[in-house]
Amino acid sequence: MNAQPAASLFVGGRFVEGEGAALPVLYPYSGEEIASLREASTDQVSATCRIAVEAQPAWAALAPVERGRVLLRAAAIIRERNAELSRLETLDTGKPIQETLVADWESGAQALEYFGGLAATLTGQMIPLGQDWAYTRREPLGVCAGIGAWNYPSQIACWKAAPALVMGNAMVFKPSEETPLGALKLAEILLEAGLPAGVFNVVQGRGQVGAALTTDPNIAKVSLTGSVPTGRRVYAAAAEGMRHVTMELGGKSPLIVFDDANLEHAVSAAVLANFYSSGQICSNGTRVFLQEGIREPFLDRLAERLRHVKIGDPLDPDTQHGPIVSAAQAGKIRAMIADGQAAGAQILCGGPGEGAFIPPTVFVDATDDMTITRDEIFGPVMTTLAFYDEEEVVRRANATGFGLAAGVFTQDLTRAHRVAAGLEAGTCWINTYNLTPVEMPFGGVKMSGIGRENSAAAIEHYSQVKSVYVGMGGVEAPY
Ligand code: NDP
Repeated sequence: MNAQPAASLFVGGRFVEGEGAALPVLYPYSGEEIASLREASTDQVSATCRIAVEAQPAWAALAPVERGRVLLRAAAIIRERNAELSRLETLDTGKPIQETLVADWESGAQALEYFGGLAATLTGQMIPLGQDWAYTRREPLGVCAGIGAWNYPSQIACWKAAPALVMGNAMVFKPSEETPLGALKLAEILLEAGLPAGVFNVVQGRGQVGAALTTDPNIAKVSLTGSVPTGRRVYAAAAEGMRHVTMELGGKSPLIVFDDANLEHAVSAAVLANFYSSGQICSNGTRVFLQEGIREPFLDRLAERLRHVKIGDPLDPDTQHGPIVSAAQAGKIRAMIADGQAAGAQILCGGPGEGAFIPPTVFVDATDDMTITRDEIFGPVMTTLAFYDEEEVVRRANATGFGLAAGVFTQDLTRAHRVAAGLEAGTCWINTYNLTPVEMPFGGVKMSGIGRENSAAAIEHYSQVKSVYVGMGGVEAPY
């Protein structure tokens, strides 16, 4: 299989070969090398940022509706090419084609449509001050760095590019070294849609390329999707230059199922909240709290349904569960499974699996202090925990440094909203899980992040407000 792009980087509107270390791209299902890229050198990173700085003012000077039109055209191109792009996404990530066809570029196209449509509504405020008055201008930040994780590489690139570009910023994007291909497609598509050369650029590389980007003097903002440890490093590095940041980081989110929940829907939600994309989703509800009365029927039904999951070749349209993105990540997940067993938790179904595959795995008899309950695993591993009452479960659900997401299943209307209000999370779902429509803000609290993606809230994080005071009378000085 060959997914070789014309070259490794996309800078100033064209493909450019990287001058740094080799970056082989492996298909997670077979381990086969599907593309051979090179990292950007440090000089190439700074040259790319300079090119973006030069391209940005002319882009920002366009009428917003013209910028919006480019995004809308790009969304239309993505939709036309969804089948081909989804296949590439599957080769890059190993995620089943039945997922990538409906979730990845589709969500990216929605972001481009949403922010493209928002363009003409981006206005300032008029502030009456008696005789005088003031107004605000919402201005771009300049050049934004986007740094992505490997689980939703093309969606992440679109989620960052769309609000940044519509506000008149330029962007230099660095995908994860594991999944470098989708962002190059986005760069090509944006150019074809009419984006001026140099406004959206892609550099490739491992963490140190991200670090060079974060500290480049031409970068005004860094938006990272990644783990908490990387987030800490990037946030600290950005602070040196007083750069704006958006941090979309990890989680260990609770999914609370009360006795009165609709059993079948709660089980479906727990399945999607733990095993979609082989469990490699930041907002997954990996701590499933089960109230004592529903615990047994829930676990019976869950085990029964997981018996039928179809694991295998991600390009087979019937496959529901694909491989883990890399051997290194599979090793980390297996170490966590072994840790859970050593700590005394029991495996209800699943287990460490073999090679690239780890089946959907469910732990029972876990306690709050176990590593499998406390730490993000980022794989198909669900930890179930028993609880008795509402006050107890909200306290235990919040007893974590993370705060990305949470879910509650109950038929009791008042309890649903009371629990959602009490949970420390950026997003709470009631009687559903993991839906992240572009209309709704998405982001974390506590260690899970800073800032919001999606919705009009994202505009706040890709712009700054200038106040203009207008003196309408004379000026008197005391001396
Ligand atoms: P990492 O934190 O390992 O990497 C994220 C990105 O940062 C990669 O592109 C990585 O490059 C880069 N990077 C690493 N070190 C530095 C550095 N010092 N300076 C700048 N950039 C750096 O995350 P993963 O790719 O392993 O993704 C999994 C994590 O992402 C999980 O914790 C998950 O929860 C989180 N995530 C959060 C989401 C959210 O929206 N909240 C969504 C999706 C994932 P490279 O990989 O090439 O080394």
